[in-house]
Amino acid sequence: MECEWCGESNLTEMTNTVYWELPDGTRAIEIKETPAKSCLVCGMQYQTEEMIEELEDQLYLIDTSKIDKVISYESLMSQPRLLKRNYFKF
Ligand SMILES: [Zn+2]
Repeated sequence: MECEWCGESNLTEMTNTVYWELPDGTRAIEIKETPAKSCLVCGMQYQTEEMIEELEDQLYLIDTSKIDKVISYESLMSQPRLLKRNYFKF
C-alpha cells in the first residue's frame, strides 16, 4: 500500500487521536485510539478513505447526543445504531 501523500510504500499501522465534527455540525468530538496509517518516509499520519467512511457512517447512524466529547474509537464503533442502514448514502 502506498502513502497517499508521498507515494512511497512504507506505511505502518498505528492509532492516533482525531477531532471529528458531528454530522449535524453542532460540535466536534475527540476520538482516541483511531486506527491510522503512518508513513515512515514523510511522517504523515492519516486515516484512509475507507476508515473515514466507516467513521462517518457510524456517526450518522448513532445517537450522537449520547456520546461524550472524548471517546475511544472502539466504544464509538460499538454504539448501537439507530438505523438499519445508512440513508444518507446514495
Ligand atoms: Zn508518505
